[in-house]
Amino acid sequence: MTTDMINQIANLMRQSKNTVVVTGAGISTEAGIPDFRGQNGIYRQLGEDRVMRIINIDFFKAHPDQFYSFYRQYFKFPDVDPSLAHQMVARFEQEGIIKGVVTQNIDNLHQQAGSRNVIPIHGNAEEFICMNRRCQKIYDHDYITNSTEAVPYCSVCGEIIKPNVVLFGENINNYLGARQLILDARLLIVIGSSLTVYPLAGFVNEFCSIAKDLVIINKGPTQLDYAARYKLDVGENSTGQILEEIYRKLQR
Ligand SMILES: [Zn+2]
Repeated sequence: MTTDMINQIANLMRQSKNTVVVTGAGISTEAGIPDFRGQNGIYRQLGEDRVMRIINIDFFKAHPDQFYSFYRQYFKFPDVDPSLAHQMVARFEQEGIIKGVVTQNIDNLHQQAGSRNVIPIHGNAEEFICMNRRCQKIYDHDYITNSTEAVPYCSVCGEIIKPNVVLFGENINNYLGARQLILDARLLIVIGSSLTVYPLAGFVNEFCSIAKDLVIINKGPTQLDYAARYKLDVGENSTGQILEEIYRKLQR
């Protein structure tokens, strides 16, 4: 492990009064969640075009039965616990070292680990939401799993229920809140994202353009390596080990 760089990152965190973390799939693969865009992910298996056509708000509205049959088959997350990395991010927040997390992940693991200020810009796959704008009742995963209907409906108003995730063709959740949290930060730490998915990559790019400190901790290259003050390649270590090491330095 690059001890020097870990020291330097810890120093930046110590000096910063406003640090925000951005996370992507890389933090969740360490918990055992497959990366949709990775080697064995559904984008590779089924073809990105097909997935994008089905996991799409227009397709959902037109063919909810086909959508749900696909969704139930391919969007099942294994029942896993948060990784060490999720736990460390939660601890950073509890101890006032970071302000919050903007995540691209929909697996709810940050929340499970105890992070409170989380903006899941692509939604939360543990939840389902009534499509009726005046109702918007939230259902948990069990309600859908236990439902024998091909398409689940709201028990209050009878409207169709949608996974509480951002489908293609929909706006991300809390666009303004996520952008603001990132741009207000003095130090931004990107963990486990190659920064290819917009608009999040755009927010990070905008953050860099106002001359603040970006740190990237990722396995492999990212789109914004050139803009980072420090880029730490995870290599054979785990992100969790690296964050734990940073935490130890901060204790001294
Ligand atoms: Zn409803």
